[in-house]
Amino acid sequence: MQAGNHGLTATKTVASIRRMNAPTTFRKFEALEWTAKGEPRASIPLRALETLWFNTGTLCNITCENCYIESSPRNDRLTYLTLLDVREYLDEIERDGLPTRLIGYSGGEPFMNAAFPAILEETLARGFETLTLTNAMRPMTRRKAAVAQLIRRYGPSMRFRVSLDDYRPEVHDRERGKDGFARTLDGLQWLHDAGAVVEVAARRLTGDSEADMRAGFARLLGERGIAIDSANPQQLMIFPEMRADADPPEITPACWGILKVSPDGVMCANARMVVKRKGAAQPTVLACTLLPYDARFDLGPTLASASRPVHLAHKYCATFCVLGGASCGATRDD
Ligand code: SF4
Repeated sequence: MQAGNHGLTATKTVASIRRMNAPTTFRKFEALEWTAKGEPRASIPLRALETLWFNTGTLCNITCENCYIESSPRNDRLTYLTLLDVREYLDEIERDGLPTRLIGYSGGEPFMNAAFPAILEETLARGFETLTLTNAMRPMTRRKAAVAQLIRRYGPSMRFRVSLDDYRPEVHDRERGKDGFARTLDGLQWLHDAGAVVEVAARRLTGDSEADMRAGFARLLGERGIAIDSANPQQLMIFPEMRADADPPEITPACWGILKVSPDGVMCANARMVVKRKGAAQPTVLACTLLPYDARFDLGPTLASASRPVHLAHKYCATFCVLGGASCGATRDD
């Protein structure tokens, strides 16, 4: 009993000393563990590594107006992953008995990476489910034969989330370039008709309500006979915009109760992302898919090193994950 009391007192004392010592000269989102007001910053422990994302490389066939990862036909800051790179991490999952069921692939455009069909094949053959984020444009359609074969072989284990920002061509094309809407919709149609499990990722690019967007997508997809339930947020995900010029409040542990948001629902509670930086000898593991260039979210080369808690030290943590209420929604049953 006494020992317990001593322990509590000691913990409180350490906490108060740290609070007193917390520098108050930080700018917002500057210090990893402290807010600008000197309060402890919220952090999120890894509950279980359910989903492992791989960024296959930042090269993309198009340049969007507001791409959070700045993908383009020239940006190779994150270089192409190889099959061997991916294999190392699948081996670590199996060796350490991690609970990872789903392997996500994002880019850039994953199909720009020539190794991607082989990477998908190996992942599926080892019994994982996959989720591939794609714009379903030329990089994918030129590999139709390989993709169709994988769909036939692995069917429901392989999902595709197609980036169709809006149900109106002019809104999508303003963000992604001329004729992008038509090409992506054709690619989505092809995947659907080939028997793939498809879903759509849209964005709040206008002031329209979510209900109006879901109704618009229901009309569009219904006319094309594409079996996606637009009312289902796992089949039609509508993401808030990540604006670099936003000025959100910083997140402290008290925010969870005030906002009635559970840290368990945030992506970094159950996922990590592997990237390979240009010129690096080996890949590294990041806290999540959203912060590829901030070194504070680089957690080391292995899944074991990346299992430590993540401090919410970026404005995207606040705007996108906590206040925006978005999660990556990687699994259909989450
Ligand atoms: S952006 Fe979201 S998922 Fe990524 S570290 Fe911040 S809170 Fe976690």
